[in-house]
Amino acid sequence: MIDLHTHTTASDGSVSPPDLVRLALQSDLEALAITDHDTLDGCDEGAIVASELGVDFIVGIELSTRLEPALVELVRPWLGSRRLPSIHLLGYFVEEAPPASFRSWILGHQESRRKRNHELVEKLRGFGFDITLAEVSRLGGKLIGRPHFAELLLQKGYVKNRQEAFDLYLADNAGAAVERDEPGLADSIGVLRGNSAVPVLAHPGRLPFGNDQDALRVLLEALCSAGLQGLEVWHSEHSPAQEALYEDLARSFGLVPTGGSDFHGSHKPTIALGTGINGNVCVPKDRLDSMRATARSAAMSTPVENSHSSV
Ligand code: AMP
Ligand code: MN
Ligand code: MN
Ligand code: MN
Repeated sequence: MIDLHTHTTASDGSVSPPDLVRLALQSDLEALAITDHDTLDGCDEGAIVASELGVDFIVGIELSTRLEPALVELVRPWLGSRRLPSIHLLGYFVEEAPPASFRSWILGHQESRRKRNHELVEKLRGFGFDITLAEVSRLGGKLIGRPHFAELLLQKGYVKNRQEAFDLYLADNAGAAVERDEPGLADSIGVLRGNSAVPVLAHPGRLPFGNDQDALRVLLEALCSAGLQGLEVWHSEHSPAQEALYEDLARSFGLVPTGGSDFHGSHKPTIALGTGINGNVCVPKDRLDSMRATARSAAMSTPVENSHSSV
């Protein structure tokens, strides 16, 4: 069993990178990827401990992206009047280390996150909540995400639980939602490919049309042309029916099926490392082997068109 989707204190998880690597070892995981939002800091720390302890460690990242206008038009029939979703894209550096140019590219995303956090505090204060950015910041490290806001609202008694904080205020379509400057999805796939990373569409079940095979086919076709290489099939929030649908789609588009728990420690207490919610995730080791093979064959073939090799 492996876990290719986890968060640490470097983003919105509650477990430090070294402790997460130790937990992976105790949980008998055959491989662990850290996929913090918009940062590689957790991977840098985790990789050192993983090599000391002999844990098979994969450097990963989770990017928040926006559909480009051409992609919006493609899925418009299924979007209706709904707000445009933020789409998460995982990137795995299974063969090569992330280059310095990639590191500077993600720094821009951290800046837009900081700006969003300022606006989010103001919106939440508008709901009458007595909170400050300093208080939220105390709950996290260098990078603050919405789960930290959920935690503060819970601690101050403004919501009954963390999920209520998302449902009423923090989710993309909820009361205090703030649109953030995010990189384009197709563009980000190109950047990952240009930096020898394997791009994987994260938790398709979260897409507003995540159960609609026709919509997913239209989107995946466009994303495959942009260089997408994998689809996250197994995830704590996916039902067995969704897993079956995504596995089938991955097979038909030639995408590597990947998966992970999306572990966040105590910020998402129902999700266990490796096994998800009540054991609903189990990712076999051979998925990682396929990912490595994909990266290797891509490295040997011609570079992707439009890949931002300069980034
Ligand atoms: P951020 O990166 O600050 O935009 O926060 C995004 C994170 O918040 C996601 O990775 C999830 O951990 C969490 N999140 C976003 N939307 C929801 C939701 N509707 N329900 C629960 N958690 C969510
Ligand atoms: Mn998160
Ligand atoms: Mn995500
Ligand atoms: Mn995640």
